[in-house]
Amino acid sequence: MSLADWIARLLTTAALLGGFPPATSAPPVQKMTQAALATMVCGGPCPVLGAYMPGAGIFLSDGLDLDASPEDRSVLLHELVHYLQDLNRRYADEERCDRYRDRELQAYAVQDKYLDRYNLAISDQQYTLDWQPPGCAPGATIPIGDDRNVPER
Ligand SMILES: [Zn+2]
Repeated sequence: MSLADWIARLLTTAALLGGFPPATSAPPVQKMTQAALATMVCGGPCPVLGAYMPGAGIFLSDGLDLDASPEDRSVLLHELVHYLQDLNRRYADEERCDRYRDRELQAYAVQDKYLDRYNLAISDQQYTLDWQPPGCAPGATIPIGDDRNVPER
């Protein structure tokens, strides 16, 4: 399936699982090497595989195999949730540290629900947000796992 087909299909999935109205347009999605993506997002080597930049769209590591791997598809799905959050102004009125945390919580929750269809999970342990916006409390730990105890706000 083409990248455009995956974007359309996963955008529908992201809207359903995230409780958003169907999106009428898709964001631009650009593939790049993992090293270039890491430099863009982290300023150096880091394990990032996808990023959403408001106004610019989604950037994906070209190492992802969307056809073969549900886990790789879930990376695109996660970023599409961020696109839908922007489009629908979800959490837009929150203070920026809360907004960042809640956006990530929802994106990971949707990603986890998607992987659950394949009997996969992001992690059986806890997912730790290892990056926070400047000025926000570091080390927020987000529990994601089989108990599905991620708060939805
Ligand atoms: Zn995210």
